[in-house]
Amino acid sequence: MIPSVLRNTNFQLRLFGENFVKGMEIAFTHTKSAYGDECVHLLDETYKVEVDTEENAFISLKAPYPADTPEGHKFYFCVRDSPSRPFKHQGSDTWKILGTHHKLLPLWVSIILIIILLLLASLFSGLNLGLMALDRTELKIIANTGTEKERKYARAIMPVRAHGNYLLCTILLSNVAVNSTFTVILDDLTSGLVAVIGSTLAIVFIAEITPQAVCARHGLFVGAKSIWIMKIVMGICAPLAWPTSKLLDYFLGEEIGTHYNRERLKELVKVTNHVNDLDKEEVNIISGALDLRKKKVQDVMTKLDDCFMLPITSVLDFETMSEIVKSGYSRIPVYEGHRGNIVTVLFIKDLAFVDPDDNTPLRTLAQYYQNPCNFVFEDVTLDVMLKQFKEGHKGHMAFVQRIDRSGDGDPVYQTVGLVTLEDVIEEMIQAEIVDESDVITDNRTKKRLARPLNRFQDLAAFAGHQPHRVHVSPQLVLATFQFLSTSVDPFRPEMISETVLRRLLKQDVVKHIKLRGDEDRNDPKAYVFQEGRPVDYFVLILEGRVEVTVGRENLVFEAGPFTYFGIQALTQNIGVAEPQSPSALGSLQNLNMDSMLRHTFVPDYSVRAIADVYYLTIKRSMYLAAKRATLMEKGALTKGNTNEQIEPEVDKLLRDEGRTESLRETDAPPQPQEPSLASPATSNQKENPEEEALLKK
Ligand code: ATP
Repeated sequence: MIPSVLRNTNFQLRLFGENFVKGMEIAFTHTKSAYGDECVHLLDETYKVEVDTEENAFISLKAPYPADTPEGHKFYFCVRDSPSRPFKHQGSDTWKILGTHHKLLPLWVSIILIIILLLLASLFSGLNLGLMALDRTELKIIANTGTEKERKYARAIMPVRAHGNYLLCTILLSNVAVNSTFTVILDDLTSGLVAVIGSTLAIVFIAEITPQAVCARHGLFVGAKSIWIMKIVMGICAPLAWPTSKLLDYFLGEEIGTHYNRERLKELVKVTNHVNDLDKEEVNIISGALDLRKKKVQDVMTKLDDCFMLPITSVLDFETMSEIVKSGYSRIPVYEGHRGNIVTVLFIKDLAFVDPDDNTPLRTLAQYYQNPCNFVFEDVTLDVMLKQFKEGHKGHMAFVQRIDRSGDGDPVYQTVGLVTLEDVIEEMIQAEIVDESDVITDNRTKKRLARPLNRFQDLAAFAGHQPHRVHVSPQLVLATFQFLSTSVDPFRPEMISETVLRRLLKQDVVKHIKLRGDEDRNDPKAYVFQEGRPVDYFVLILEGRVEVTVGRENLVFEAGPFTYFGIQALTQNIGVAEPQSPSALGSLQNLNMDSMLRHTFVPDYSVRAIADVYYLTIKRSMYLAAKRATLMEKGALTKGNTNEQIEPEVDKLLRDEGRTESLRETDAPPQPQEPSLASPATSNQKENPEEEALLKK
């Protein structure tokens, strides 16, 4: 082999031989000849030999350009001892020939190639990250959920990406090939050191960092747009890349793409919360849904002790029904014997046709509807429970049972609580659901709603009014309550609080005049008010009709429900000059003073029942007691007490007043009494009954 040097490069040529002498010169010729012949066609340049020893010398020279002949790259040595002697040919052995060669490629080709190779290197390196990072699962997700463009890109990439290992082998193979070719060409163009440094910098910055950074964000776009190049390259690399990829498939298994178990999926949603567009509630719902399988009914059930249940021996009277309504639940477990022995469920809608006045036994209703109970074990997971509730065959409530093995005998089933669809859904959405009839927000913490939405609380509040001697329907009592508190000034909430008014109506305040026939027409018992007879009470007609006779002319007119009379009996302040009080209610001192004075009002009209009449009477003393109770309540509330704490006291106050009144009634009928102190509003001041009667609702 002929040693060859790149043309035009400076180098030192070391020569080994014998008889090297000072002043020796070397020249080259392209003409082949035998050792010792005189050289012909010598090239112009001659080189002085630097002699080290007799056997060892060197020359420094710039490699000559090879001639344009077939043998033009071969330079034969010609030597002379002194300038006066001719050059002698040193022979044609290969080791006595110096070869020179041109650069591999012309400069412009090299530059174009370098640019192309750099671009390809960038593409492969970028795709290595961009395409390989987009796994098949992700591509499927994008193809189904992305924007129109993303779907298009994903669909273009998917067939290529499906051959994961083949693509990987192709990318790596071509990337390495391109990089090394680039280095070789650069080396050809420059010197070795420049090629090493230049190729390292170019590959790192242009062909690695930049494309990878771009493809990490826009891999889908770059991948889709360059997929045709990738297909060509895959074809070119197939002989090596395809078998290698098959080997990888065989040893490593087919690529399956990223897959998440429920824990990872939950975490993924949480940790990407700052970049995904899910809000906190959605994240909670996703985690809650993923956790359903981990939680058991015993974790979410309402414990048996906290369940609102009814014994099967109950009677569905008003009391029971209002308790049911008050509880706010629409499914009531019914037990027999002890609370653990649940025999059926009462749905609140089953009560639609039950009249509380009929006092229907619960057992009868239960036997009629025969609602089945659904029992589940405490370790049933919530996903199973949800499935069961979804199917709905067994209803949306289940009773939770546990096997009790503590006894000596066989294990027994013990009912420990109940669970409803709402409990499962709350766990799923990780939030409390409050509906319009709920009284508490959470069945475990038993936190009460600040203001229950249950409007039937009002109705239930009238349930405890059984002391009424005269029974009127709770609906009528509720209507009376609403009428008084909204339309009759002395009963407005500023004067009498709603709680106190409710309690007041629970007292024995309703009277009934029952007419038997015509002979009763002039019966004094038929009179509610008699002209000239002092009264100390207020009257509101609830049901029936009355006849009002007014003035000397005996003007007669009829009035019906929700007409009221005698309001002056309540409101006149007989003698105590009320100091400037900050509230319409007045001070406790004045109220006490007022109540000590027996005040009556003398009507100048008569009110007589002309049909069966139910009417409400409220005595002045009772009214003042109610005002006192309101004052007391307001004071207590400002001190931070709750309504529940005050109610018994209010009740007591009104009951005591009621009792005292009935004693007074039996002691002595009210007499007209002159006010003890001068007052602008005197007791015998006449009122205008027509005007009052017209205040009908
Ligand atoms: P619905 O909303 O269908 O009218 P509901 O309000 O009576 O029914 P759910 O909404 O199913 O009852 O349940 C609300 C919460 O009340 C749940 O935590 C459940 O366990 C509890 N719960 C349901 N019924 C009773 C009951 N009878 N006694 C005690 N807690 C109950």
